[in-house]
Amino acid sequence: MPSLLQRTAQAVQGLVTGLGVTFQNLARPKVTLMYPLEKSNVSPRWHGLLALPVDTETGNDKCIICFQCERICPSRCIHIEATGKGKERVLTRFDIEMDKCQYCGLCVEVCPTEAIVFTPHYEASTYNRANLLYTLEDLHRAAPKEPVARGILR
Ligand code: SF4
Ligand code: SF4
Repeated sequence: MPSLLQRTAQAVQGLVTGLGVTFQNLARPKVTLMYPLEKSNVSPRWHGLLALPVDTETGNDKCIICFQCERICPSRCIHIEATGKGKERVLTRFDIEMDKCQYCGLCVEVCPTEAIVFTPHYEASTYNRANLLYTLEDLHRAAPKEPVARGILR
């Protein structure tokens, strides 16, 4: 059984080691953020909210209504409807149930016209699940419907 002196030496050694780690990290640059006042810069390849941004040159959707994204989605959360035939065909519905989306990116990869894309938004949480149904209008806006974090610090 360790003597009182040995136990005291062990405790002091533990304290010195712990303080050493603390002082080492005090000198290092911060990696934490004051969220939600400070936001994280995500990678350009970040899988955030999905969007269908309107083509800035033509003002129209880039979607050619090929249904490939709807077909490939493993969560079955994309719902597309269209009217008309051939070049006259227009989208009447393009909904994504973001609460079911697993952010796998298959829809983005399969899209031949880069009509469906990921955005860098990661603040799509909501208290109402119904708000996670993104319609064509929401997807055009390419932004969260109801960002919860508003930068309020008490
Ligand atoms: S990211 Fe994956 S789960 Fe989400 S809509 Fe696209 S294919 Fe479906
Ligand atoms: S894969 Fe692209 S072009 Fe085809 S329906 Fe989906 S978003 Fe539209």
